[in-house]
Amino acid sequence: MRLIFEKSIPDRRGVKLPMDDVPKAKSLRGKYLRKESALLPEVSELDVVRHFTNLSKMNFSVDTNFYPLGSCTMKYNPKFCEKAAAVDNFSNLHPLWPQLLKDDYLAQGALEVLYETEKQLCAITGMAAFTMQPMAGAHGELTGAMLMAAYHKTKGGRRKYIIIPDSSHGTNPASAALAGYEVIVISTDSDGCMDLGEFKKHLNKDVAGVMLTCPNTLGIFNPRIKEISDAAHEVGALMYYDGANLNAILGKCRPGDIGFDIVHLNLHKTFGTPHGGGGPGAGPVGVTEDLVKFLPISVVAKDDRGKFYLEYNKPKSIGYIAPFYGNFGVILKTYAYILLLGKEGLTEASDAAVLAANYIRVSLKNDYDLPYDKICMHECVFSASKQKEQSGIMALDIAKYLIDNGVHPPTVYFPLIIKEALMIEPTESESKETIDSFIELMKKIAKLAKENPQELKNAPGNMPVKRLDETKAARELNLIWNP
Ligand SMILES: *Cc1c(COP(=O)(O)O)cnc(C)c1O
Repeated sequence: MRLIFEKSIPDRRGVKLPMDDVPKAKSLRGKYLRKESALLPEVSELDVVRHFTNLSKMNFSVDTNFYPLGSCTMKYNPKFCEKAAAVDNFSNLHPLWPQLLKDDYLAQGALEVLYETEKQLCAITGMAAFTMQPMAGAHGELTGAMLMAAYHKTKGGRRKYIIIPDSSHGTNPASAALAGYEVIVISTDSDGCMDLGEFKKHLNKDVAGVMLTCPNTLGIFNPRIKEISDAAHEVGALMYYDGANLNAILGKCRPGDIGFDIVHLNLHKTFGTPHGGGGPGAGPVGVTEDLVKFLPISVVAKDDRGKFYLEYNKPKSIGYIAPFYGNFGVILKTYAYILLLGKEGLTEASDAAVLAANYIRVSLKNDYDLPYDKICMHECVFSASKQKEQSGIMALDIAKYLIDNGVHPPTVYFPLIIKEALMIEPTESESKETIDSFIELMKKIAKLAKENPQELKNAPGNMPVKRLDETKAARELNLIWNP
């Protein structure tokens, strides 16, 4: 496919503007004026529509394909939520509008959305308050680690370590390191949980906190989670909940009730919002009562008259971590999603997500290695090591063949502790028919791996891009169009 720049024809126009009758501004100084016009493609409106419509058809999305990308919770994004986010008074709101007047906050409706969403998240997680500011899960983790530091500082000491299991998402150690902590990695035991003995051995008064995903990235809920949080609290460490897998436990279990002190949620995962391709996201962080005073500014509050305002006067706050009010559009969709489903609906969503994952787990366990063969939560993690041994077929080959057959691949090669990992998260959105045809396809792949591995190695055949030289693509990154 040609770039839009390559479709450019000199003087072709998409829009014609009327003659400019505004007097020329004198104040614009010469150095800010362009010497020559910008190198923009010169194309008609129809050229633009076709170009981008065709580009969009080359992509996978939840709206077009089954998308079992583990850990990412690629659920159906209800159009109701998109509609709510598109309401003019929300979508065209200027971020400075609420604070336009000195003592009277405008955009009361938008502030109410932030305020009420926070209340809903508190009810869902059992936390005392949330900051709605962080822009994604990883940003929430960094905020959480900074909250830990602020907390320990007021307790009179700097602590050095954050404990993280080896099944964790890569953002966990990265966020801890960015906040100035050293990371202690704990291995996974034969049950697929953080090794309790090893954990206790490393736990001491130098540990600021313990970061856990629960259920973890193997899709396993640690039955001894309370024992872990009690032990952490005993030495004064804080428990951090990576909420990426909250979709497994909505309405069933609240992180606040099992000892977590800080929680981030990935609103774009658990509460809908199309996020394939890297955005947009929102990663609000919730905390227990003791930590509320450290939350970032600003905070949406409500005065005696029932009016919403922005609170900046928080002397113990860690300060700004993002401009304005977080990713408002994603928060608004979350609010719509929660109201749309209600408590029962959210609980049913988790029930269905867990059932779907277990159905896949049981259906495919004779075809693929299942390193942790036990009841899972909302995702199940297979390994292609049997196929690799048989005929050199790797998780990557399976992923490419799935793409060719209209299925977005599961997450591959993660979690890192499983060789040739295939991490499948069907979510609650999919019908039994869709899941059955996926299972059939996976069985066909297992058969091909035995009988005709070359067919898998040749995939993808139907895609606009075939196998890339990934090393070359990374080393010789070529993203800039040169005329
Ligand atoms: C997605 C994910 C993250 C990071 O969240 P982002 O919103 O992508 O920054 C962290 N931990 C786990 C387990 C995840 O799946």
